[in-house]
Amino acid sequence: MALPTNMATEALVVGKPGDKFEMRPIILDEVRPDEVLVDMKYSGICHTDILLQTGILPGVEFPAIFGHEGAGIIRAVGSNVKDKSLKVGDHVLLSFNVCGKCKQCVADNPSCCHNHSPVNTGSVRLSDGSTPARLPDGTSVRSQCFGHSSFSRMSVVAERSVVKCPYPESLAYFAPLGCGFQTGAGTVLNALKPDKTNTVVIFGVGSVGIAALMAAAYLQVKQLIAVDVVDSKLATAKEFGATHVVNSRDCGADGVQARIREITGEGADFAIDCTGLIPVIELLFGCLAPCGTATTVGVPPPNAVVRIEPQTFLLENKRYIGVLEGGSHPQKFIPHLMELHRQGHFPVDKLCKVYSVKDFETALSDLRQGKVVKPVIHWD
Ligand SMILES: [Zn+2]
Ligand SMILES: [Zn+2]
Repeated sequence: MALPTNMATEALVVGKPGDKFEMRPIILDEVRPDEVLVDMKYSGICHTDILLQTGILPGVEFPAIFGHEGAGIIRAVGSNVKDKSLKVGDHVLLSFNVCGKCKQCVADNPSCCHNHSPVNTGSVRLSDGSTPARLPDGTSVRSQCFGHSSFSRMSVVAERSVVKCPYPESLAYFAPLGCGFQTGAGTVLNALKPDKTNTVVIFGVGSVGIAALMAAAYLQVKQLIAVDVVDSKLATAKEFGATHVVNSRDCGADGVQARIREITGEGADFAIDCTGLIPVIELLFGCLAPCGTATTVGVPPPNAVVRIEPQTFLLENKRYIGVLEGGSHPQKFIPHLMELHRQGHFPVDKLCKVYSVKDFETALSDLRQGKVVKPVIHWD
C-alpha cells in the first residue's frame, strides 16, 4: 500500500517563542519507510510542553508542534519499520525517541541515548534535520517533538516512539505513560529500587512525583514522605500511599530537612526531586541518612548551578544520580506499567482529567494552577 502524501490535518502550532498554542491547518508531506502515521485520540499535557513553548530550551526552533504523550491508532506503516507486528488499526502509546546509533542505544539502554536532546526536544528527524509538517503557505513546522508531536490530529511518528497498547478502552489515561508517569514510576522501579526497609522522600507531587509515589507504595517502602507546597496535592499523595505529608511552607527556614529527620530518625535513604527547582535540589542531601541517594527527575533550567557540600560525598558517602525518562525502555517498561494498572497497583486513571481539544487553554491553565494533576486532551 502506498504511504499517504500531502495530507491535510490540523495541529496546535506555536508560531514563535511564547506564542499561544493555536489550532491551525497543516499538511503532512510524507510518511517515510521507517515511520508510521498515527491518528491521535488523546494527548497528555506535560510541564515540558510549557517549557518548550517559552523557547528557553536550547535547540528548539519555531514554528513548532509540541506534545509528547500521545495515544492513538496507526493508519499507515512504512515498509522498513523493524517491528513487523505493527499493523494499521493498532492502538498505540507514544513515548520518547532515540537515535538508535550511539553506544547506549546499541546497548539497548534508550533512556541514556547520547542524542536525547536533539532527537526529542529538537523536534526534527535526526537523519536529515527535516520535518514532515508544513503550513499551507509552505512554511515548515517542527513536528517531531519526542519523535511524534502529539498535539496534532494526525502525526508522522518515528518507529522508536511507538508502544503497542492492547487496551483501547484505556487510551485516555494511558497516554501519559509515555512521559510523565513513566518518568516518575521508572525512577523508582528501574533506577532506585528501594526495598521494604527503606525510607523515601519525594519533593513535588505533580504527575511525575505522584507516579513515583505510587511505585514506591507498590514496593511497600517503610516510610513514604511527600513534600509539596499545595495542600490538595498532598491530600492526593496521602490517598495514593504517602505515610507522611509535609507542606514545606509550614516548615520555615531549613525546616524541611529538620522535619524529614524528625520523621525518619536519621534521614531518608532516598530523596527524589520532581520539581526541577534548584533550591529544592540543594535541599536533597540534607534530608538523607548516610549512604543515602539523592535523585533528580525534573530537568533544571539550562546553565543552572547546584551547590552541594563535598563533605556529603566524602564523609557521609551520599550519592547523587540523575535519572532521565525514568531509566526506562518504553517498549518493555510501559507494558509493565499497564499490567500494574490492571492489577490495581498504579491507578493513573484517578490522576487524569480529560478535556476536549477545544478546551486546550483551560486544560493548560488548570495544569499551571495545580487544579489538575494530569490534563489529557481528547481529539474529538
Ligand atoms: Zn542514541
Ligand atoms: Zn514530559
